[in-house]
Amino acid sequence: MSSNEARHWHRLPSGQIQCDLCPRFCTLQEGQSGLCFVRARKDDRLWLTTYGRSSGFNVDPIEKKPLHHFYPGTTILSFGTAGCNLACRFCQNSDISKSREMDVLSRSASPRDIVEMAISAQSPSIAFTYNDPVIFLEYAVDVAREAKARGLHTVAVTAGYINPEPRVEFFEHMDAANIDLKSFQEEFYQKLTGAHLGAILDTLKYVKHHTGVWLEITTLLIPEMNDSAEEIRQLCEWIAKELGPEVPLHFSAFHPSFKMLNVPSTPYQTLTRARNIAKEVGLHYVYLGNVHDPEGQSTFCQRCGTCLITRDWYKVQVVALKGGACAKCQAPLPGRF
Ligand code: SF4
Ligand SMILES: [Zn+2]
Repeated sequence: MSSNEARHWHRLPSGQIQCDLCPRFCTLQEGQSGLCFVRARKDDRLWLTTYGRSSGFNVDPIEKKPLHHFYPGTTILSFGTAGCNLACRFCQNSDISKSREMDVLSRSASPRDIVEMAISAQSPSIAFTYNDPVIFLEYAVDVAREAKARGLHTVAVTAGYINPEPRVEFFEHMDAANIDLKSFQEEFYQKLTGAHLGAILDTLKYVKHHTGVWLEITTLLIPEMNDSAEEIRQLCEWIAKELGPEVPLHFSAFHPSFKMLNVPSTPYQTLTRARNIAKEVGLHYVYLGNVHDPEGQSTFCQRCGTCLITRDWYKVQVVALKGGACAKCQAPLPGRF
């Protein structure tokens, strides 16, 4: 098994080691690993046991992350490791994130190998995704360093459950992030994910106001769990007030998975209703994901309504964008193009 020394931990007076990477603050005896399964104490130090190991690579459209305002129409080399620091009962990637076994980590891949792979696939960006990259910070940071040195962009797809100090290190190496805002209720976070809403909101504010990272947000709508009109309105109002209306928001459809096989898929009407609420609240760029809805996936100019980028599933065409602005009225489109 590859391993590499972990950062962000300290020794307690009791002799236990405390991991300070995420708000779970796991305390570990010799031989134990944290709730994420992959940060482990051995020889009286903390190690990242998944360093240099990947659970798989794919070249995806960047729209699949989802990112709609970051080099639209390009591809991105995506990879992940194993484990997760959340325990979402509705996890859509549970084979990877819940794996305690290292057998999903079929490939050994150095930061240089990954960057070479992206270059040969002609992908201008690399995504840390599939499982939450927060828990493999040291590996992600090394890949990001190598990527930057070769002129590639880096993207984190994350739930944002990370402590303030490591958060600085992690996002310093990212060019864009899609952060989940899974609900606007603390109770939902506690019961269904094992995390806390406040820490996620702090990460969103930090990334928007204290970094140069391009930010988009995803909310997976789960029937009767987080899809009430009231909750969606509160969530959108918070985004508009705290982050600003130009941050793109993606409402994504849930499909039965993992420990929530008894909950039905999100009806299309729920998604369109959520989008209408977000628009009423004043958010400028609201998208629908995991459903076929070309209008709900396309990007429109905020000033004149011209369609700037059309999307039909992953068929993307930049139709009226010139130098990052509307070709018709010259209003700038927020993002990186
Ligand atoms: S990163 Fe893993 S080991 Fe560290 S506190 Fe979070 S769950 Fe525990
Ligand atoms: Zn316009």
